[in-house]
Amino acid sequence: MIQDIGPSVFHNEYRHIRPRKDDVILMFDSGGAVLCSMSCGRIAFPDIRENDDDAVYLFSIDNTGYFLYRGPAVQKPEGYNFYRLRELRSSSSGPEVFAAFTAYHLWRWYEDNRFCGSCASPMTEDTKERALVCTKCGRMVYPRINPAVIVGVIKDDRLLITRYNRGYSHDALIAGFAEIGETLEQTVAREVMEEAGIRVKNIRYYRSQPWGMAQDLLAGFFCEQDGDDPIRVDDSELASAVYKSRDQIELQSAQLSLTNEMMTVFKEGRAGQEIKW
Ligand SMILES: [Zn+2]
Repeated sequence: MIQDIGPSVFHNEYRHIRPRKDDVILMFDSGGAVLCSMSCGRIAFPDIRENDDDAVYLFSIDNTGYFLYRGPAVQKPEGYNFYRLRELRSSSSGPEVFAAFTAYHLWRWYEDNRFCGSCASPMTEDTKERALVCTKCGRMVYPRINPAVIVGVIKDDRLLITRYNRGYSHDALIAGFAEIGETLEQTVAREVMEEAGIRVKNIRYYRSQPWGMAQDLLAGFFCEQDGDDPIRVDDSELASAVYKSRDQIELQSAQLSLTNEMMTVFKEGRAGQEIKW
């Protein structure tokens, strides 16, 4: 999956540090596209200008520090262009795609919290932890992560496959965000009922995945349909929701998403197996 970048190692411990010569900088335009070069499926981010005061530390991959540029707009260096995450996802793989998704999540958070929600004064970066502090009232804001579920519903050895009305146009699974006051298992049951009109049982956790594109943390679950109610598709969200046998499921070639991995696991008859860590 996108976060499986081994043998490279991701370090997200917060550090209040300045850039070094070999670090890289991630710069987003107002629409969330990231500045990089792409050659033969390899992504490269611009090298950092030393002691750039407009850069905030995000994370490291191996020994390379990734910094977010928060200053005024600058001219893009030759050979670099702004690419949307979807473009990066479909044309490349490797640690840089995960870096772009994760940096996007943090960029979105910094952008959404430029001013205090209590007194509207400017926010500034804390020096001890990943937090923003109001310059006037001291209110602190921490990064926001939205929990969401991906659900593989099984019935008679077939998997419930959806297609969205808009956006992602390939085979997908039931998915949705957790609402306040419910457990993830309750999210699973509610989302399946809302999107497909059926009840589920034997809900079991599979794996999780950070997915910066929607600033979410995805939790994958498998379960079975409870009863024989017919599927009622929520056509405000879905174009279709049908049970498919293993050979009918269409996978993506790049194994980046939890959805694709769960469909793969089902196709290969491993959906009932426990994952050991
Ligand atoms: Zn304030």
